[in-house]
Amino acid sequence: MTRRSLIACPHCAQLHQRIPIAKGASAACLRCGYVLYRQSALPLKGWLALTLAALIVFAMANYFPIATLAANGRQINATLPNALILTWQQGRPLVALMTGLFGFALPLTQLLFLFWAMHAIILQRLPADFHWGMRVLHVLSSWCMVPVLLLGILVAIVKLSGLAQVEPGPGLWAFGVLAVLLTALSRVTAQRLWRMAEDDGLVSQSGADVEPGRIVAACHSCGNVQSIASVSGSYSCGRCGANNYFRKPDSVSRTWAFVITAGVLYIPANILPVMRIRMPTGVTAHTILGGVIELWRLGSWDLALIVFVASVVVPMTKLFALAVLLMQRQWKGVAIARQRTRLYELVEFIGQWSMLDVFVVLLLSAMANFPGLSQVTAGPGAASFGIVVVLTMFAAMSYDPRQGWDADPGRESSGLQFCGRPMGLDQSLDNPATQAV
Ligand SMILES: [Zn+2]
Ligand SMILES: [Zn+2]
Repeated sequence: MTRRSLIACPHCAQLHQRIPIAKGASAACLRCGYVLYRQSALPLKGWLALTLAALIVFAMANYFPIATLAANGRQINATLPNALILTWQQGRPLVALMTGLFGFALPLTQLLFLFWAMHAIILQRLPADFHWGMRVLHVLSSWCMVPVLLLGILVAIVKLSGLAQVEPGPGLWAFGVLAVLLTALSRVTAQRLWRMAEDDGLVSQSGADVEPGRIVAACHSCGNVQSIASVSGSYSCGRCGANNYFRKPDSVSRTWAFVITAGVLYIPANILPVMRIRMPTGVTAHTILGGVIELWRLGSWDLALIVFVASVVVPMTKLFALAVLLMQRQWKGVAIARQRTRLYELVEFIGQWSMLDVFVVLLLSAMANFPGLSQVTAGPGAASFGIVVVLTMFAAMSYDPRQGWDADPGRESSGLQFCGRPMGLDQSLDNPATQAV
């Protein structure tokens, strides 16, 4: 029997054989329920076309104005690159830098790398630095926030309608299309591209060099399952060269450090004004909650609710959920471990949405720039808030969900083999432990 490619669950470390599944189906981990892989109904050429379309729409979204504002005979055509430059000049480099990275530079880099990798797989010729490109793609995936930026643009436009005459521009529609395309493309992860290359015989099969009786671990970047010498210290992946640890080192203390720092910074982020609005009648400072109340007063209760959820509920939920995950590690049992995995999935899913207010502030300060009439500038709270969001994302990344499963007593009796345990390959590989759902 030829050995099938191996796949390790990133949440519970359960080892599975990768079995072919129907188009549109997905395969879930038998132990924790996490979706391990999907079989796309779209061929790779279709994904390549989508990536090319996204690149064209990206250029349009950043070239054409998002909105045109008119007040007192003056007109402003606001584009994202202009907004970034203006916020930088206004003395808020951190806000400009965060938005520029998460809303512009990183999504563009991600699209270029995706196009390059898919094109190489279609041509059946991988460049020598394919493994390096895939590692970059893997790191970028968590930091591209165009859908959040789009929501920020919508909120900014509604807020501006109180200050000036606002006309949505073609850039806004382009951002809408781009957000949809990027959400679809977020399914093509670096690990998925590795699996495609594996299926075409372009790279070695995951688990090809696993030896019975030795410790087994999976690369966090390319997913390659391999034998390693020891559970302590780092090792570099035999397929992509990424630096790996059997389990994330000092995961608990590092996650606590990020959670506590984010929790402390969350106080100034809420007390300090995120923006100042200068009107002929005087200067008003707005905190995050003040901004929500103002949106409500403008009659946009739906947007007020979205901003409230993104800026208040999401960061609090994330900090609280991470603290719960860290504190209840001692509670054992499969049911609790599964709950923990679901909670961690939630933390990962809501990760970037709290960046919304930082984007709103940047866009407002760039768009409502009518000196002498009305001017919006970013306040010190905006940068603190952005740092809180980044810290909570780092906290989620430092947490290692597999450790919660390591202590699970049920694993000895389940008859399945786990990553990191010496395994008798023959008995485990005869039973494909992957379930198509
Ligand atoms: Zn699992
Ligand atoms: Zn690797």
